[in-house]
Amino acid sequence: MMAGYLLARAGVDVIVLEKHADFFRDFRGDTIHPSTLEVMHELGLLEEFLKLPHQEVRELRGIFNGQPVVMADFSRLPTRCKFIAFMPQWDFLNFLAAHAKRFPSFTLRMQHEVVDLLFDNERVVGVRAKTPESDREVYADLVIGADGRHAITHTRAKLQLQEFGVPIDALWMRLSKREDDPPQSLGFFQHGKLLVLLDRGDYFQVGFVIPKGGFDQIKKRGLPALHSDIVAIAPFLHDRITELDDWEKIKLLTVQINRLKKWCREGLLCIGDNAHAMSPAGGVGINLALQDAIATANLLATKLRTRAVSVLELEEVQRRREWPTKVIQTMQAFIHRHVVTGRSSGSDDKLPFLPRLLIWFPFLRGIAARLIGLGPRPEHVRSPEM
Ligand SMILES: Cc1cc2nc3c(=O)[nH]c(=O)nc-3n(C[C@H](O)[C@H](O)[C@H](O)COP(=O)(O)OP(=O)(O)OC[C@H]3O[C@@H](n4cnc5c(N)ncnc54)[C@H](O)[C@@H]3O)c2cc1C
Repeated sequence: MMAGYLLARAGVDVIVLEKHADFFRDFRGDTIHPSTLEVMHELGLLEEFLKLPHQEVRELRGIFNGQPVVMADFSRLPTRCKFIAFMPQWDFLNFLAAHAKRFPSFTLRMQHEVVDLLFDNERVVGVRAKTPESDREVYADLVIGADGRHAITHTRAKLQLQEFGVPIDALWMRLSKREDDPPQSLGFFQHGKLLVLLDRGDYFQVGFVIPKGGFDQIKKRGLPALHSDIVAIAPFLHDRITELDDWEKIKLLTVQINRLKKWCREGLLCIGDNAHAMSPAGGVGINLALQDAIATANLLATKLRTRAVSVLELEEVQRRREWPTKVIQTMQAFIHRHVVTGRSSGSDDKLPFLPRLLIWFPFLRGIAARLIGLGPRPEHVRSPEM
């Protein structure tokens, strides 16, 4: 959506195809980072955007074995907004879509599921999409594959994927929120286990990290055992945990980290989770996907207005975005190995080494804030506005 917005703003004819009828998915994460808010300012949209219901989180706090620790402090970031805005991603996407529709060269087609690529010899020249009425062919100078972790575009283009093993999966569910709940802390860490609570107004979106492939075992132990695992980490949830009274209310989200070796071929560019699936660790995948979109528009918008772009020009996007991706994915792999494994570590240490470091050296919270809030190479809008 961001790539579509920016390219249409630059006068390029764009059609965004979305397979669902709306953006109401509850497994997308809710974080709008300071660097994204800066981009919204650069686009002149920030003031209106911040009128949407959201929460401003100025420091990320985790509860480590019962002890609160500030993990990242955004107050000194060199950005206009020194906070992460927590907002359901569907609100963000609807906002961008509404503004993109003001550009005459922008079209959004919902319920258009891309099921195949169209080729002319070796060049990708468009996509075949399934719609409620019929199949449609859409031809384009460039197809941008922004279709997430299970992308059909990179599969059909036979782009090679490198998988980096991840030891965890996540259970995703809802619990109601009460007025007297303790102040929001994002994560409850307990000897290798992690419970995440995203405040969505009248309910918590709950993420519970489990060992990879461990869901069947958890089901065998039964719901009461899962309830007590969760309540052991966040005791204040004891009065509502039985709201999870059916496995239907608990979704398994498989966590992956991977990266395409080549993000493009003639006529096709892959960005976001399609090019590099991100783990939820650090809550940075949305930001990274947005930065790919901004870089894509910066590098290609002017050219695309008048002509198709070459593979060499598409490769510039990969060259610009690959190392920030590698840095973040390496950080996520480290977190999976040393902080959140989904298994009880068996350690008696009240405070693991990493949070201890953050207490001893508070300046590290500023570094964490930069990595999470801005990312290694924050992008700014350089594409033109027509
Ligand atoms: C459990 C979990 C929690 C997470 N929490 C966070 C978080 O809090 N913060 C954060 O920054 N990151 C989080 N992430 C990572 C983040 O969700 C992703 O990195 C980010 O959403 C990637 O954005 P994207 O636009 O590339 O892909 P997506 O957000 O996956 O968007 C892809 C879009 O393409 C559409 N689509 C897919 N296939 C087709 C098709 N064939 N035809 C047409 N449309 C199609 C989809 O419907 C979707 O709208 C989390 C990940 C997981 C697994």
